[in-house]
Amino acid sequence: MTRCLDCGAERATDQCSACGLTSDAAEAMLRRRLLRRTAWFLLGAILFLPASQVFPPLELDAILIFFGLMFFFVLGLGVWLDQRARRHAEVELLKRIYFGFVPVPWLLAALLFANGKFDTAPPTRQEASVLGKFSMPGVLRSNRLVVSSWRDGRGVERVQVDRDDFNRFQRGDAIIVQVQEGVAGISWVYAVYRK
Ligand SMILES: [Zn+2]
Repeated sequence: MTRCLDCGAERATDQCSACGLTSDAAEAMLRRRLLRRTAWFLLGAILFLPASQVFPPLELDAILIFFGLMFFFVLGLGVWLDQRARRHAEVELLKRIYFGFVPVPWLLAALLFANGKFDTAPPTRQEASVLGKFSMPGVLRSNRLVVSSWRDGRGVERVQVDRDDFNRFQRGDAIIVQVQEGVAGISWVYAVYRK
């Protein structure tokens, strides 16, 4: 059984009876769609990075690692899909999974943004001391204060701060980390200030 690469209908002849495309034309159509959706996916991923830092989650590192793994997994799927389309092999399921992932960066960005934006709950103030800090230039522009953790079973927290706070605080400083619960239950850091 062969399926049309474009519309997914079963076809017995080279020309699809459902959409009228020949197998070569269907491949070209699929390619074009693949390219367009991939562009959306990439744009979403690029937007996700700054959006994740507006109301920085406490678990930003874990979220970024998860996002990075998903990103490369999806790109891998895209490459595989493209190769199968080239051979005119069965792609229906793969196509559905791949296209299903396209809005994910957008949804995650919206989730993290809304999580902080609509958070009206009173913050909790956590005492911590600065144990170290590190900064990473580049797209992510991460400035992290490594502080003692107030949560059970955790040694340290890596708190995302802006440039000013990053320069202001030094190792050994006693600080207050103002934490918000988050509308979606994703704790995020509202502010860091001196005790
Ligand atoms: Zn078709």
